[in-house]
Amino acid sequence: MTDTRTIQRLDSAHFLHPFTDHKALAEHGARVMVKGEGIYLWDSEGNKILDGMSGLWCVNIGYGRTSMSDAVYRQMQQLPFYNSFFNTTNVPAVQLAALLVQVSPPQFNHVFFTGSGSEANDTIVRMVRRYWELQAQPERHIIISRKNAYHGSTIAGASLGGMAGMHAQGGPGVPGIVHIGQPSYLEGGAGMSEDEFGIAAAGWLDERIRELGPDNVAAFIGEPVQGAGGVIIPPKTYWPEIQRICDKYGILLVADEVICGFGRLGSWFGSELMGIKPDLIAFAKGVTSGYIPLGGVLVGDRVATVLTEKGGDFNHGFTYSGHPVACAAALENIRILIDEDLVGKVARDTGPYLKEKFGALREHALVGHADSCGFVAGLNLVHTKGATVFDNIVFDGDDGVGMICRGYMFANGIIMRAVGDRMIIAPPLVMTRDEIDEMVGRIRAALDDTLAELK
Ligand code: PLP
Repeated sequence: MTDTRTIQRLDSAHFLHPFTDHKALAEHGARVMVKGEGIYLWDSEGNKILDGMSGLWCVNIGYGRTSMSDAVYRQMQQLPFYNSFFNTTNVPAVQLAALLVQVSPPQFNHVFFTGSGSEANDTIVRMVRRYWELQAQPERHIIISRKNAYHGSTIAGASLGGMAGMHAQGGPGVPGIVHIGQPSYLEGGAGMSEDEFGIAAAGWLDERIRELGPDNVAAFIGEPVQGAGGVIIPPKTYWPEIQRICDKYGILLVADEVICGFGRLGSWFGSELMGIKPDLIAFAKGVTSGYIPLGGVLVGDRVATVLTEKGGDFNHGFTYSGHPVACAAALENIRILIDEDLVGKVARDTGPYLKEKFGALREHALVGHADSCGFVAGLNLVHTKGATVFDNIVFDGDDGVGMICRGYMFANGIIMRAVGDRMIIAPPLVMTRDEIDEMVGRIRAALDDTLAELK
């Protein structure tokens, strides 16, 4: 049962995968991953592949950490499960809540645990609305998000998200959620400096709040750097202006840090880097480096005080809220991040080095623009380079150049994700300078192969 063909056959017969065209999958067969160590993966055919995506933006500490499996094993033997409903708790969940409060910005003193990032965002929708009910302003129920945002796949997550393909499936979403444009300079910034565009893009929030009536708006949600949307790095003027607008109307500011949290941008939380003070933060992924599922919401004092002092029961929670094994994994993961100073390394050393080396790819004939922020980066594939990024001639969307390029990335032993014709990475935070050189070399080789095919 362990040979590749058998696994592929059973996979396509029985396993419905997320975001997958199953006819195409059945034709080609899935790639079967069997092992991970450091920044590398091995598939069932023995291919060694550099994981430029940290799994799904999550394996921040790299693969194969035996101290993680030891921590999980010990906790499974001690207490594999107990719930945190009905006035009960468990030691790892309490220790983790206290540690998260230490590593997060000062306005956070409370944590609500979930099993995933989607559940964290569902929790936020209910918590934000509950907050305004308790403030005797129940009409404040509208949450403003952004087009092309990804906030998860539950019904509330998909509704908060601004992905047209998701909204087109599965019927009506959650009412009271609206979307404004994303701060993508390449898409909307022609004729403006980046700073001017940042202010203009934040201004869309002000406009929409005025259209909706400020007294109807509960919150604004966004990722500090949009990940799944294609690593959209906002101009540095954008987030401070968003904060100013939220403050002006008294609406809650929510940061979805499911990707950006736990060092991804070279700060513990992306909000700190962007200079904002959110009221709520959604987290998941990097909290356990994906070794065990866990998510949650950091609840700032403004909301926590109202919930705890006025709220009585908050009728919300999951069987796995504060799961002791997941919390034990998170405690060990955060210990590693701290002891190895992985966040500091990305901020001061490997992040700037990646910026320099990855940025140099913009000289390649196929690359119109390349940028990074900490350990997320993206480059745009273009048909013909122009004098400025706005003069580049892009491929026809139907050409599927991004997918062709992604195939050559695999062939050159590197995993890079394609979002349309933008190729993106989010490598493990443990990646060294030598490994960055290796990764960029593989990307360059794959770009050469792609260019050769297109000629
Ligand atoms: N929010 C963001 C920004 C994400 O990138 C993701 C997943 O990629 C989610 C939420 C959903 O998290 P999960 O897949 O754990 O439900």
